[in-house]
Amino acid sequence: MSSESNNLPPFVRDKHVNFIIEQESNRSYEYWLSEHLRMNGLYWGTTTLLTMKQLNDQTLPQNKVIEYVMSCWDSESGAFGSFPNHDAHILSTLSALQILKYYNYDLSPLTIDQKQKIVKFIKSLQLRNGSFQGDKFGEIDTRFTYTAISALSLLDELTKEITGPATKFILDCYNFDGGFGLVPGSESHAAQVFVCVGALAIMDELSRLDDLKISNWLSERQVLPSGGFNGRPEKLPDVCYSWWVLSSLSILGKKNWVDLDKLEKFILTCQDFEIGGISDRPDNQTDIYHTCFGIAGLSLIDFEKYKFDEIDPIYCMPKRITKDFKKWKS
Ligand SMILES: [Zn+2]
Repeated sequence: MSSESNNLPPFVRDKHVNFIIEQESNRSYEYWLSEHLRMNGLYWGTTTLLTMKQLNDQTLPQNKVIEYVMSCWDSESGAFGSFPNHDAHILSTLSALQILKYYNYDLSPLTIDQKQKIVKFIKSLQLRNGSFQGDKFGEIDTRFTYTAISALSLLDELTKEITGPATKFILDCYNFDGGFGLVPGSESHAAQVFVCVGALAIMDELSRLDDLKISNWLSERQVLPSGGFNGRPEKLPDVCYSWWVLSSLSILGKKNWVDLDKLEKFILTCQDFEIGGISDRPDNQTDIYHTCFGIAGLSLIDFEKYKFDEIDPIYCMPKRITKDFKKWKS
């Protein structure tokens, strides 16, 4: 063990478990302000607990979680909204599928008819240039491409008709600096790099990238002396980029291009040692999103040391769940 790891702050697992339960038990003020993110929040909470091997009937009971997910079914669109009676969106649909996978590998209680409707909903969002809209209102973002490809992969419904144009669109967003943007021509951003690299990995198209150039851009995201990662040049470090950057490097097989000891220390320093949870930067307010991606980042750094489940850098779900996903061959 290096001298660096000897003075690491402690990891307050039990406090994080309590923090997540509090979030989901309607008691927090933020809970009432976050309807549009509720399904994503439930995915962040279940993923964090599962990664820490703490998802059970004492923390987030299966029947309550499934009941909530199914109450968000939008029968008009044939997919999931974020909250009961909200319109279906591709982001909440992927989160719902991931949560259902955590409890039931066959995605029950979804019926075959509902699964077919979800596939139809997702396919209807793909435009002629290969991009995806998030919903019928038309916003486009490489994030939605990843979400669509990941969801279709979970449903084992990828086809060449989908992946061909989607790959072309992602490559249209590939910048000369080695990164990816939201849409063609927009500046490189680490979250966009993750969604593009992740989608290409699912579609078996990683060989289309210059992996040295992209890995260089990613490793330049580590800000010293803090050791945290930023999303773009000249920006402050933020815990969520521990995930977006390190997962991308992991997918590319270049995790050791950054100082993992310093990154680990940065994430641990962003914990709230009193009430649990992880914030974007030391001493800021914690939230479920940064808690999820901080803990997912620690799983990528050293899941064995923390006695975590190993997280899959492509799907952001424990490998125990994703190991049986059918691999797509381009
Ligand atoms: Zn952040």
